[in-house]
Amino acid sequence: MLSLATTMTYKTTIGLEIHAELSTRTKMFCACKNDPEEKEPNTHVCPVCLAHPGTLPTVNRKAVEHVLRVGAAIGGSFSIDYSEFDRKSYFYPDIPKGYQISQYKYPFILGGSLVGIPITRIHLEEDTARSIHSDTESLVDFNRAGVPLMELVTEPEIHNAETAGRFARELQLLLRTLGVSKANLEKGEMRIEANISVSKNDTLGTKVEVKNLNSFRSVERAIEFEVKRQIESIEKGEEVQQATRGWDENKQQTFHQRVKEGGADYRYFPEPDIPKVVLSEMEDMLPNTIKDSLPELPEQRRERYSVDYQLKKNNIDYIIETSARTVFFDAVVDALDKDVALIRLAVNYIVSDLAGWYAKHDGDEYANIDPKMFAKTIKLTLDSVLSSRGAKEVLALMAQGGGDPEELASANGLLQTQDRSALLSIVDAVISENKLVVEEFRNGREPVLQFLIGQCMKLSRGSGNPGTFKELLVGRIL
Ligand SMILES: [Zn+2]
Repeated sequence: MLSLATTMTYKTTIGLEIHAELSTRTKMFCACKNDPEEKEPNTHVCPVCLAHPGTLPTVNRKAVEHVLRVGAAIGGSFSIDYSEFDRKSYFYPDIPKGYQISQYKYPFILGGSLVGIPITRIHLEEDTARSIHSDTESLVDFNRAGVPLMELVTEPEIHNAETAGRFARELQLLLRTLGVSKANLEKGEMRIEANISVSKNDTLGTKVEVKNLNSFRSVERAIEFEVKRQIESIEKGEEVQQATRGWDENKQQTFHQRVKEGGADYRYFPEPDIPKVVLSEMEDMLPNTIKDSLPELPEQRRERYSVDYQLKKNNIDYIIETSARTVFFDAVVDALDKDVALIRLAVNYIVSDLAGWYAKHDGDEYANIDPKMFAKTIKLTLDSVLSSRGAKEVLALMAQGGGDPEELASANGLLQTQDRSALLSIVDAVISENKLVVEEFRNGREPVLQFLIGQCMKLSRGSGNPGTFKELLVGRIL
């Protein structure tokens, strides 16, 4: 067991390498469809992505634009004067050419930062095919071969698991906000590798690379495990081996995969079949053009929600987590004429009632609810046409199948009854069932009135208005 005091004498250094499959219509260097949902193997293939001799790659402009958009969003600098693609040679059954087209010395983006973590570079490359192994055979599906892949590398300036997890989550949110990648970890659309080392007294630690991290939680767990494992080795007088390790989700621990002997020799050299890229010669690829095309970024959105509507941090985090929620919320804000009091009431129903309903039911969030109808529900609540209990029920019905809150409330007996004679009969029933309490009230014990109002509300199943009941009770008794 490690003591906290021992652990604290070590410094943890983490750098992340994150790949993301880009959302484009076609693959990186050919006209084959880029369709991650395709189930039939080897459907979207052609001589180019199967690496037949004599074929020539052509660059997918959209993929370049996607990478530049990410670069602009993180404040990185564009390699506007010169960039190129390179061949990264290695042999593997899922690399049909025997090399991968990537970028080496001249990536599109250098520098920038996200959640305070400096970014080294972002480059563009192609994905490999997918290998499928069984006990008796190994098969290769080339649908994924040549799909545009973005690689982002951070500086080794992350010092704990929590920050690494926060960075990865924020990058996913950014990629989705920009619409450049679906970035689902469980589908392999976003893949995270962590380089982890521990060191003491300013010495340089040995870097261990951990792969196969398929969730944010496993990123954090793997880092925590690895830091502890490395410190334990050093404390026992052993050396940390420079290696690549995998993450075993069941055992919740990293395991040895292969030794890394210095840098692998990929024999990088410039791809001779693709012209050099000079972004400054393309008007639609210039930094300012790209910057102007960016949507509102997550950080700007947080700021707006916090300053303009004074929302709480955890409510903001909930709303900006998916674009369905953000689009819905922004439409609600417009429908409420940006009235801060109404918006804050609306947020309460979103983060408690609707969030709760969606957590329990399948289906796309906010697919059925018209933001204008949701806004109308809020206004009806404020005007006491709906009680807060009635509003909850109306919202559940809307989440299920849409509709107009007034019609739903009236069809389901959820309107606060405006019919005084109906309310009066409820009041009379309560008075006759609670004679002793009524007597106490008549004798001047005012607090018991609240109990009687409560009984009326109960009997009306929430459809009465407490203010009206109070007025009627007082009128009847005194
Ligand atoms: Zn192809």
